[in-house]
Amino acid sequence: MKPTLPRTAATRLHDSTQPLPPHKLIPCPCCHEPLQHTALHCAHCGAEKHYGPRLHELLLYALSGLALCLALIFILTPHAFSTASFWLYPLLGSGLTAGFLLAQFRFSGERWIQHRKK
Ligand SMILES: [Zn+2]
Repeated sequence: MKPTLPRTAATRLHDSTQPLPPHKLIPCPCCHEPLQHTALHCAHCGAEKHYGPRLHELLLYALSGLALCLALIFILTPHAFSTASFWLYPLLGSGLTAGFLLAQFRFSGERWIQHRKK
């Protein structure tokens, strides 16, 4: 007895006989060579697709948030450092977190990053 395929599988097989649509090509943003739409790195110039912030950007933003928070505290309450109040630390932590979150929002999309050639 011939095995029968379920209807969905048969449909899929039927569809596969159709010519597949040509792969979408996009120009590489760095060297403008044609590139697969889904490619994660460019074979021509070595550029890589990145999602979200990179580590040094995260650190930079978090530290600038911390520095900004420090400056604000220093401007608003110059005596805070001499007294070393207990609320100083959660406040600095919130500055760090704000910088971290800012980096997440700032670099939320996908980017192409070309590594510097040495
Ligand atoms: Zn490229």
